[in-house]
Amino acid sequence: MESRKTWLEISEQRLRHNYRVLAAAASAGGRETTILAVIKANAYGHGATLCAQVLAAEGAPWLGVTDAEEGAQVRRSLVLNLPSRMAQPRILVMTGLLPSDADQIVESKLTPVLWTEVQLTALAQAARADFARGDGPFPIHLEIDTGMSRQGAPPGAPLDLFLDRLLAHPELHLEGVLTHFASAEIASATITDHQRTRFEAALHQIAARGLAPEWIHAGNSSTVDEASCMPWLQEIANRYGARSLARPGLALYGYALPIQGGPNLLRHDLKPVLTWKCRILAFLEIPAGATIGYNATFTTRRPMRLALLPVGYADGLRRELSATNSRSGGWVTLRGKSVAIVGRISMNLTTVDVTAIEDATLEDEITLLGDGITADDHALLAGAVPYEILCGLRSHPKLTHSAFAPPHDRPIPSGQN
Ligand SMILES: *Cc1c(COP(=O)(O)O)cnc(C)c1O
Repeated sequence: MESRKTWLEISEQRLRHNYRVLAAAASAGGRETTILAVIKANAYGHGATLCAQVLAAEGAPWLGVTDAEEGAQVRRSLVLNLPSRMAQPRILVMTGLLPSDADQIVESKLTPVLWTEVQLTALAQAARADFARGDGPFPIHLEIDTGMSRQGAPPGAPLDLFLDRLLAHPELHLEGVLTHFASAEIASATITDHQRTRFEAALHQIAARGLAPEWIHAGNSSTVDEASCMPWLQEIANRYGARSLARPGLALYGYALPIQGGPNLLRHDLKPVLTWKCRILAFLEIPAGATIGYNATFTTRRPMRLALLPVGYADGLRRELSATNSRSGGWVTLRGKSVAIVGRISMNLTTVDVTAIEDATLEDEITLLGDGITADDHALLAGAVPYEILCGLRSHPKLTHSAFAPPHDRPIPSGQN
C-alpha cells in the first residue's frame, strides 16, 4: 500500500517545461547541442521511472542514470509504458561499471561510461554472444579525467593504454567521449580552462588512433545556465565530426546554483517540479511553560496549538531545520500561510506552531517543500546544497497535472521566540 501520510507531487507540466527551456538554451546561437536528461539518484528524489516516462514522452533522446540496476528499472518501465510508436531513449549509466553489472547493461540496452581495462574486458565478454549473432558492436562512452581525479582515463599514457585495449575488442564501439567539470557554477574558472585544454588533448589523441565517436559531451546544469562553454563544446564536436551533448540534472527539477562571477541565464525560467506534502497526525493544546521535543530545546512562552506531522529526518526533513527559543528554524505552509517548526525534528515526527490558524483541521494538507518554501531554503538552513535536500527525500512520488502556479512570494518564517 502506498503511504498517504506523506507524498511528493511531481508536476508533469513543469518537468516538461524545464526540459524544453534547457533544450532551447543548449541550442541557442546557431549550432545544436542535444540534452541528456540526468535522472540518476532516483531523479534527485523525484522518481526515476516516473520522470523517465515524462521525459521520454517529451522526446528526450538520452537519459542518464546512476548504475545498471537503476537503468534496468528505467528501461523496464519505459518498455511497459512508452507507446511503441515512440523511440526508446538511450540510457547512459553514469557512475562506473562493476564487472558483475556487464550482463545487465547489455540485456537492458544501457550505455555504460567506461575508462578502465577491467570494465572493457567485462563488457566485451557480456557483448560477445550478441556480436557473434550478427548484432553490431555494443556502444560505449569513454570518460576522460580532466581534473576531478574521480572517474575517467587521464590523457596521455593511461588513455593510450585504454585505446589499445579497446581496439582489440571488435564487439565494442566507442560511441561517445565525455568529461565533467569541477566548477561549472564559477564563471571563467581557471580549472575549467585547464579541463577544456586536457579534454581537447584527449580528443586529439583519440582521433589520432582513427576513432571517430559520434557524441562528445560535457557540462551540467550550470554549464548550460552560464552558457560560456557551450560554443566551445559545439566547436570541438564539430571539429571531430561529432554531435555535442550536455547533461543537466538539477535544472530539470527547477533548481540552479547561483553562478559566481557571471549571469544565470536560465535560473528564472525554471520551475520547481516537486511539492512535498503530508497530513496532520494530531493537534496538541500546549500551555505556557511547557517544553517541546528532545532535549527540551523549546519552551512555550504562551499557550500554543501545535500540529504533529508524520515526517522527520528519516523522510529527508533535515534536522538542522529544528527550532529553539533563540534560533528560529524551518517552516512549512498550511492554507498558504507559513507555520514555524518548533523544537527538535525527530526521526519520524515534527511539531509546528499552528496557533494562528484557528480553523485548521485534520483534513488539511501541509506543504513541506515547494509552495512558499524551496529546496534552496532548506539547503541554506541545513548548510547543504539543494542537491542533497532533493536526493534526501524518501516519500512516494506521484504525478500531478496541475497547471503552472504563479510564483509564490517567499513568506517570512514566523519565529516564536
Ligand atoms: C550529476 C552529473 C551531471 C548533472 O549535474 P547537475 O549539476 O545536476 O546538472 C552531469 N554529468 C555528470 C558526470 C554527473 O555526475
